[in-house]
Amino acid sequence: MFDNLSDKLDNALHLLKGHGQITEVNVAETLKEVRRALVDADVNYKIAKTFTDTVKEKALGQNVLKTLKPGDLMVKIVKDELTELMGGDAEGLDLSGHPSIILMSGLQGSGKTTFSGKLANFLKKKKAKNPLLVAGDVYRPAAIDQLHVVGEQIDVEVFSDKEEKNPVKISERAIAHAKSNGFDVVIIDTAGRLAIDEVLMKEISSIHHTVKPNETLFVVDAMTGQDAVNTAKAFNDVLDYDGVVLTKLDGDTRGGAAISIKSVVDKPLKFIGTGEKMEALDVFHPSRMADRILG
Ligand code: GDP
Repeated sequence: MFDNLSDKLDNALHLLKGHGQITEVNVAETLKEVRRALVDADVNYKIAKTFTDTVKEKALGQNVLKTLKPGDLMVKIVKDELTELMGGDAEGLDLSGHPSIILMSGLQGSGKTTFSGKLANFLKKKKAKNPLLVAGDVYRPAAIDQLHVVGEQIDVEVFSDKEEKNPVKISERAIAHAKSNGFDVVIIDTAGRLAIDEVLMKEISSIHHTVKPNETLFVVDAMTGQDAVNTAKAFNDVLDYDGVVLTKLDGDTRGGAAISIKSVVDKPLKFIGTGEKMEALDVFHPSRMADRILG
């Protein structure tokens, strides 16, 4: 993940580090290379431009050229700004409800069912929670079966009803079941469509309105590049979700979505999926990711 971007940024900043005498011209050249690297990684041009403008402003403000090690300071400014762009401090999940309710949203194939399982597994193993998975995709029996397979793998109960065609009712019954059976987190997997449509948006909004989740997460496939950011925006306009989950970052993705999603929807990226296995989940830490990208 991010290998290409890391290499290009490394090259760009090397340019600066290699110069004995750093001038405004070197800095400008470096920032141009940084901008190009970001755009090549699928970061929207405007975001990349604002990014390098901010770095330049900070560099001027801190009088970088007059410091002892201007190259190192520039790298630090780039790293800090990259962290800021990706969300600043890491944000956790709100698990305060009794039970806490986590609602998944996103397009079909984005990785919602897989992530629901990964999250249940994570909460069980790392947070000593007793989660209940809910099959809210009432249209595809295969989706319900898939969640049961996931549930068995991680030994977590799955609430489903193939006869019930109303996801709001299923969710309500699942929450009642959780309350009377000692589950402290309810994770509701929902139906997706191949593309955004009004019916899907109405359905997810009505589940959201009725169950009042502690956390609504938007799950999106990182491989879709700039489309991931556009879809995130479309869902955010309707759903006002709390956080983003970026899946398939293990694949051949250029990573631009991870970098730019926060600045487009102003919602934190909370988790990243890095494989098909139940353990392939990372909590997203902007500063750690910036370290990883900049090496
Ligand atoms: P849903 O339709 O949104 O519920 O998506 P699924 O959970 O069924 O995932 C769609 C496909 O993506 C499945 O084949 C998953 O195994 C795969 N998948 C999900 N998350 C990841 C990930 O982080 N990395 C990789 N490589 N594949 C993933």
